[in-house]
Amino acid sequence: MEDELLRCPNCGSNEVTVSHLQRFMANTGEHYCHAVKTQDADSESTCLECQWRGRRDELVHNVGIEPPKVGSNDGLGPLQPERDDA
Ligand SMILES: [Zn+2]
Repeated sequence: MEDELLRCPNCGSNEVTVSHLQRFMANTGEHYCHAVKTQDADSESTCLECQWRGRRDELVHNVGIEPPKVGSNDGLGPLQPERDDA
């Protein structure tokens, strides 16, 4: 088994990051159980080379590069990340 190496789908760089997200209640500071871990498919990803931003599951694997299957999210369920940049 080779280690998974992820690359930017835009420029092909492996200088990509993923984010761990934790939410807390604004009023009480209580932990809210909606955390995104770095290995989650909807973890926010950023390329340090070209400033691409997206999701971890949009990153390209270095082994057997295949184009992302746009529009076929069957089986993933309702995993839409909240976007505040509307
Ligand atoms: Zn890039």
